[in-house]
Amino acid sequence: MTAATTDVEPQPTTGGLSEAVSNIDRRKTKIVCTVGPACSTPEQIRALIEAGANVFRLNFSHADHPWHTAAITTIRAAADKLQVPVAVMQDLCGPKIRLSRVVEENYTVTAGDLIRVTTERHLAADGPAISFDIASTYAALLDDVGPGDVMLFDDGRLEVCVEEHQGNVIVVRVVRGGPLSVGKGINLPGVSLSTDSVTQKDWQDLEWGIEHDVDYVALSFVRHPDDVAAVQSRLAEAGSRAQVIAKIERPEAIEHIDAIARLADGLMVARGDLGLETDLARVPVLQKHLIERCRRLCKPVITATQMLESMVHNAVPTRAEVSDVANAIYDGSDAIMLSGETAAGKHPVRAVEMLDHVARVTEADLRQNPEAQRRQIRPTSTVAAVVEGAITTAIGVGARRVVIYSQSGSTARALACHRLPMPVVALTHDAATYRQLSLSFGIEPLLLPSRIKLPKLLDDLDILVARHRWGSPGDLIIVVSALDGEDGNTDTMHIHTVR
Ligand code: ATP
Ligand code: MG
Ligand code: MG
Repeated sequence: MTAATTDVEPQPTTGGLSEAVSNIDRRKTKIVCTVGPACSTPEQIRALIEAGANVFRLNFSHADHPWHTAAITTIRAAADKLQVPVAVMQDLCGPKIRLSRVVEENYTVTAGDLIRVTTERHLAADGPAISFDIASTYAALLDDVGPGDVMLFDDGRLEVCVEEHQGNVIVVRVVRGGPLSVGKGINLPGVSLSTDSVTQKDWQDLEWGIEHDVDYVALSFVRHPDDVAAVQSRLAEAGSRAQVIAKIERPEAIEHIDAIARLADGLMVARGDLGLETDLARVPVLQKHLIERCRRLCKPVITATQMLESMVHNAVPTRAEVSDVANAIYDGSDAIMLSGETAAGKHPVRAVEMLDHVARVTEADLRQNPEAQRRQIRPTSTVAAVVEGAITTAIGVGARRVVIYSQSGSTARALACHRLPMPVVALTHDAATYRQLSLSFGIEPLLLPSRIKLPKLLDDLDILVARHRWGSPGDLIIVVSALDGEDGNTDTMHIHTVR
């Protein structure tokens, strides 16, 4: 049957009620997957998308540019083929400090040991003259730390305390021992770093991101709103549409959270380093506060790290992990992220299927009380006022769906933060917006060949409803758009009855 003949004809009710339920049951929480050796082939990427991946994260802490180029090419090709919106997020590593050398293979330290730490910069300058046990990538390490400072290795598994400087090494005493190998991360909680938050490597990597048209750039270890502004200004100058996600993982970012959240396009609760750089017990508290802040600003927020960590090795997650995923959704995350589970784990697809399933079950519970999910945001603009009216109406009349036309995506995000119980279809003719909206809670982006004005949209709506199975005759659909179809002019809410 062609689209034209469905214009007035009601669709045959194949599937009937079960179809209606499955439509309503589409997952609203979005899934971010980190790409790594465990999921880089076209078949693996395709399987992740089919399992429900909405956004792929490329971690520039790992691999080289050709590797990431191959990955983004594979992702774009798979999304095109499957005709689904998928966004790519470039994660810039920031001033992540790592171990660059250890003195011998299988190097293990025990509590009480005294070990000598130097840096690549000192090794380059003084070479063989230095007697050391381990070396770090961070040039200013010896300048920034002093006696009594704590250093953590390998995600905090090992802990040492700085004793003293001895020329071009620092001597540290091991508090908590274990194996140390090249590439492991180092955290310096409470130490204020003298390095820039956006490093030389980040600036070079950002050029790659601009060239390859990434949809999001995530900034690690953001400390100040200026870090966000600097990257945004380079993106704007280069004509890039990429949006900037500030990863909150440093105490300085919490101090400046108001300005950072206002400036950034979204936040990531980067629980891995956050739990090392601040009090681990504060992570759940900060998670709730950061999520709520984003919702009030109508910006997407991602909860990340160790969501299903045990699935790196095991085929089933722990109860605690499943609870954590559900609670991140109850807290109001737009998206939840997998790291090692998809990048380097044994069960990448199963991990996505698990997130998908937990999200659906949790969302079914949230739908019971849609009013509790609404946020009181005083509508001071025309767009906000129309959105407010649309939400009240959609919940009040039990609309089957909300369909909006959004060029830049801002109207869609203004709706997403209220976590409506019904799906929100975001029509756009802008390919970047189409991909970017795949991060926002409950938004189903649909790419149109060209801009559409409201009268035409209403004329065509029944065709679209039939083609995409958005509802059955008699269902109410709330339409939000600009009468003239222009971005920023959203001024109309219309209640449409499906014919
Ligand atoms: P971050 O602190 O930025 O999260 P990470 O080292 O924890 O850095 P993740 O992105 O969380 O990295 O990924 C988990 C693991 O997956 C990494 O430790 C690494 O072993 C592996 N990994 C991720 N991306 C890649 C890649 N592109 N190439 C090789 N290995 C990767
Ligand atoms: Mg990182
Ligand atoms: Mg990680």
